[in-house]
Amino acid sequence: MVKKKFAITGSPISHSLSPVLHNYWLKKYNIEGEYVLMEESEKNLANIIKKIRNKELDGINVTLPYKQKIIPFLDKLVNDAKNTNSVNTIYLDNDSSVIGENTDVFGIQAAYLKQISHVENKKALVIGAGGVAPSIIFALRKTKISNISIINRTKEKSLFLKKKFNYLSVLEWDNLENEIINFDLIINATSLGLKGKEDFNLNFDLAKVKKSLVFIDTIYNPLETKTLKLLKNADVKTFNGLEMLIYQGQKSFYLWNKINPEIDDSLIELLMSKIK
Ligand code: NAP
Repeated sequence: MVKKKFAITGSPISHSLSPVLHNYWLKKYNIEGEYVLMEESEKNLANIIKKIRNKELDGINVTLPYKQKIIPFLDKLVNDAKNTNSVNTIYLDNDSSVIGENTDVFGIQAAYLKQISHVENKKALVIGAGGVAPSIIFALRKTKISNISIINRTKEKSLFLKKKFNYLSVLEWDNLENEIINFDLIINATSLGLKGKEDFNLNFDLAKVKKSLVFIDTIYNPLETKTLKLLKNADVKTFNGLEMLIYQGQKSFYLWNKINPEIDDSLIELLMSKIK
């Protein structure tokens, strides 16, 4: 039996937990194969896609900073990749076309939005306008949330996203603290709070936070950013980034192997042990 090979490409990716996630499932479902890290420079993107085309690779995940840059090398974008112009999962289809799909949107919906009651009525604020932002915005929209605002240190990036998602309201970064009171659902899609940069955090004044606020931090390392901890201690409903990682991986795994892998306790324990 030919051993299957999967990889994640991006730069830097040494911190990625995707190999832990996918190798756990490959083993659990007795699939002969491995999932590896492929740290590549931009000039090698064409070569990676060639490996998909000639079946040296059965599938790849794409992460920062290549989710848009990989697109010119693909034959076709489908579903949420088309909706967001952001690709995180690639495979060869039955017609030998290299397909770009996006499973981050599903990850955000399954991990968070489906768990929040009456989510469609909430006023949502996305903080950040980098690579993950299009998937968050589209997941909110797909979940029928109509009131979506965005705020980013570099306003031009918010305005660029508004060109694709014209329903967005663009806010001023300097007003962040004053704006917080206006929102029911806030998503941190910045790298503020990330391991190694813990001193840079979002500043939330608890006096200006709605009691009913739901706060999602897309960061999973650390599992609890300072901002998440502060809000959690004030009884705000919070989610960290780990579940999004797991659910986007679940859908990628399904696209490649046609098995919907189970998210069991041992998997979560294993992932958490790698974060500590
Ligand atoms: P990115 O493209 O590099 O964007 C980084 C974002 O952070 C930009 O909006 C940037 O603002 C903002 N930022 C960075 N330093 C800042 C500072 N000192 N002050 C204010 N804003 C700052 O990254 P990305 O791919 O969108 O990822 C963003 C976050 O999402 C990361 O923390 C990552 O861990 C997380 N993520 C999680 C998952 C998951 O599965 N859980 C998946 C993807 C991403 P400027 O535009 O002004 O630079």
